[in-house]
Amino acid sequence: MISVLDERFPVMYSVLFIALVFILGAVIGSFLNVVIIRVPRKEPISGTHNRSHCMSCGHTLGTLDLVPIFSYIFLGGKCRYCKAKISPRYWIVELITALSFTASVLTVGISLSLLFAFVLAAALVVASGIDIDRMEIPYGCSLVIVVLGVIATVISVFTNDMPWYDHLIGAAAVSVPFAILALFGAMGGGDVQLMAAAGLLLGWKNIIPAAAIGILLGAVGGSIELLSVPKGTKKLAKEKSLEIAEAWYASQKEKDIYVLPEKTEALYGSIFKGKSDIENECVDPKCWNGTPDIAALNEALDAELSEVSKFGISIVITNEKVTKVSCKRQVVFGPYLSIGIMTSFLIGDRLIDWYLSLM
Ligand SMILES: [Zn+2]
Repeated sequence: MISVLDERFPVMYSVLFIALVFILGAVIGSFLNVVIIRVPRKEPISGTHNRSHCMSCGHTLGTLDLVPIFSYIFLGGKCRYCKAKISPRYWIVELITALSFTASVLTVGISLSLLFAFVLAAALVVASGIDIDRMEIPYGCSLVIVVLGVIATVISVFTNDMPWYDHLIGAAAVSVPFAILALFGAMGGGDVQLMAAAGLLLGWKNIIPAAAIGILLGAVGGSIELLSVPKGTKKLAKEKSLEIAEAWYASQKEKDIYVLPEKTEALYGSIFKGKSDIENECVDPKCWNGTPDIAALNEALDAELSEVSKFGISIVITNEKVTKVSCKRQVVFGPYLSIGIMTSFLIGDRLIDWYLSLM
């Protein structure tokens, strides 16, 4: 590794190099914005049909509108053509990517690890962005990290930094306990995949501080999120959902579709930004005499619950009636875990030394 702060280099060179890395990060971040928006919609990332355009007036954006971070500042956060407000998310993603690239070059220097750090940072930014938007971490992001992990494991066979099996233990060290938590609904499957992938890359020693940082930040961030929800929102959501579920089950019964006597069905899913996603897969065919119309249930929930943000929902139905509806708040864990993973990738060894020195 070559440190960019090495005294052999004139200070000007170091500053210039760090500035270039920052700009590279901002440009990549601007591309990641497109990935975050288009991938969940299954739209192609590039192509002339998809030139970046204003979300409000549809005007195709020119070069001046697309300079990372700066365009937002110079245009005062407004579209140049229709003056509609532009979401701050664009420059936030650009800045976070730029800062992680800069932090990477300052900590791992010019080395192979720097390439790993850039790819890892990009994958984590996309995972976090999509998790915030959709409450799911796409499989593709974890897959990118798995590829990095496999390369790192192969390299470790030939070098002596870490025994190769440390990577394999790392893949299970945190993801297995997380998988158990996921069974109780405390984590999502995407979080488990992400920690397995990151564990393969970081090895078991470094995935532990990554998880510790993620859980700590998640607990703090989750409490702040919880406090910012107006009182009574959850109660209101629960009451409304129960009403909707009862009306829906009554309409199914009218069509002569019902839960068989002596059986209990539990439907579950999540409601996020006014979108309900109870899936057909959670219907147990053995509980019903026919196929219930889940799409209609989702539509009814969407129409009524537009103002409530995000929570997990479960609806318990017996032959006679809807017996229970519960709404549970869910914390979006991806961004917190991502901060933990990136921090531990860059300075995990130092964190462990520091922690042990406290003992
Ligand atoms: Zn516009």
